[in-house]
Amino acid sequence: MQNFQGVGVSPGRVIGTIRQMPKPVSEPPSGELLAASTTAEEAVAGLKAAAQSVHDELKARADKASGDGKAVLEATALMAKDTMLLKSAIKLINNGSSAERAIWEAGASVSEMLHNLGGYMAERATDVLDVRARIVAELRGVPAPGIPASDSPFILVAEDLAPADTATLDPAVVTALVTSGGGPQSHTAIIARSLGLPAVVAARGVDEIPDGTEVFVDGAAGTLSLEPTEEHRTAALAWVANAATLAVFDGNGTTADGHLVPLLANVGGAKDAAAAAALGAQGVGLFRTEFCFLERDTEPTVLEQAAAYRGVFDAFPGKKVVLRTLDAGADKPLPFLTDATEPNPALGVRGYRTDFTTPGVLGRQLEAIAIAADETEAEVWVMAPMISTAAEAARFASMCDAAGIKTPGVMVEVPSAALTSASVLRHVGFASLGTNDLTQYAMAADRQLGPLAELNTPWQPAVLRLVQLTVAGSAEEGSGKPIGVCGEAAADPALAVVLVGLGVSTLSMTARSLAAVGTVLKTVTLEQAQELARLALSAPDALDAKAWVRAKLPILEELGL
Ligand code: PEP
Ligand code: MG
Repeated sequence: MQNFQGVGVSPGRVIGTIRQMPKPVSEPPSGELLAASTTAEEAVAGLKAAAQSVHDELKARADKASGDGKAVLEATALMAKDTMLLKSAIKLINNGSSAERAIWEAGASVSEMLHNLGGYMAERATDVLDVRARIVAELRGVPAPGIPASDSPFILVAEDLAPADTATLDPAVVTALVTSGGGPQSHTAIIARSLGLPAVVAARGVDEIPDGTEVFVDGAAGTLSLEPTEEHRTAALAWVANAATLAVFDGNGTTADGHLVPLLANVGGAKDAAAAAALGAQGVGLFRTEFCFLERDTEPTVLEQAAAYRGVFDAFPGKKVVLRTLDAGADKPLPFLTDATEPNPALGVRGYRTDFTTPGVLGRQLEAIAIAADETEAEVWVMAPMISTAAEAARFASMCDAAGIKTPGVMVEVPSAALTSASVLRHVGFASLGTNDLTQYAMAADRQLGPLAELNTPWQPAVLRLVQLTVAGSAEEGSGKPIGVCGEAAADPALAVVLVGLGVSTLSMTARSLAAVGTVLKTVTLEQAQELARLALSAPDALDAKAWVRAKLPILEELGL
């Protein structure tokens, strides 16, 4: 039996057969000509047949899909028959180009043209690039890029997943995710947790496992085992049985001795918010507003924004909704705010800093938030991402004040803000620890990189110290302003207990994790949580911190968490 060890990022134990995500389609060489044995007519006929079959395949998948996935697939299917795309490719073939090179170049120019048109048309630009890659794959007789289509369930193995892959990822078919790259804070990890799929990232060597191999995946332990044993089968069955207990949160975040810790949800829009409310979330601890506009080339109007924000507020009447202003930059570029050519975007003009280079957008967003907040019953708090100094916190608070927003706050995700939290908090009403970025910046380790996964975990004692210092800063400031956590750390039930022990007042996570975190939190008293926090802080490294705390929480093993 061979084991692959990675980093477990979403719990669950399953047995299944694997499918490898096809490699991206490579660009046909520039200037590639028609083969001597092929006439232009034959190449044109081949291209049309390939385009037709790409269309038919996408259409068939769209017919079976629903929601966002269906819309994405339908739009992409239509693009495969786009006359402008095919006509310009045929022209290139008639001038001597190979069919593959012709569709590649035609796709590039149509995509650029759509991009330049802006608005809705610009949103179709990436569909064209997807379609041209599919047509080239069809012409080459290799598997189409993207998540494999299948009627039977499988465990998806990939190098990493892009945000766009989520739209076509059907959790009824994909039963677990394992990647050779990607870190614990990567998109794969975030996607897996939000879909409730067991997942392991940074498992080196898994790309070599042949399609169809039966494996056992343990998303808590971070392992993939070939040749599953009887013990694995029993564990997989037990996970299915436990899944029912872990599916529903009772809406009451508390320790065993009644210390209340509201459990909130991280959402990206109205649909997530409605789902989170249905899963028992006690409010929203992080509304990532940039997720509403990732596809936009131009700044959304104030009224468009107000409508998007109201969609989330309306799901939580009378409850707290913490909205974060646009966190554009690094892994979440917004063309109207960020510069795609920055050499080091994670350390660049990102989040609140975009107000230095594109003034006006933040002010208009605050205006939109105030309009939406006025029209709903939700208790709206507003925070800025990537705050680094007390002066920035003060300026953001005064901008909120000018817009009529009552409760301004900051994300603490840059180590300087954690280290000076008393001065930062003097100007605002609350702070929320973004442990994903706090970890990447404290450890100087890109959160997206698989090879740095061991550094990039919030179990690092250095990161836990920064959490402790942030909470201490709040006490020092005098008023004990609330400090929440809205990074992925809050979704790890063992780490959630440690965070409560460190003194954070709320935990916000993907709604799917609420029940697991709520269940584990109820098994410890506040004093025990504080003891576990001391234990984690005293560990020499992240691995020991995690192992020592987990050993004191046997319920995790019982539930497969
Ligand atoms: C974080 O950095 O922890 C966070 C919650 O923000 P994001 O993941 O959106 O950068
Ligand atoms: Mg962040």
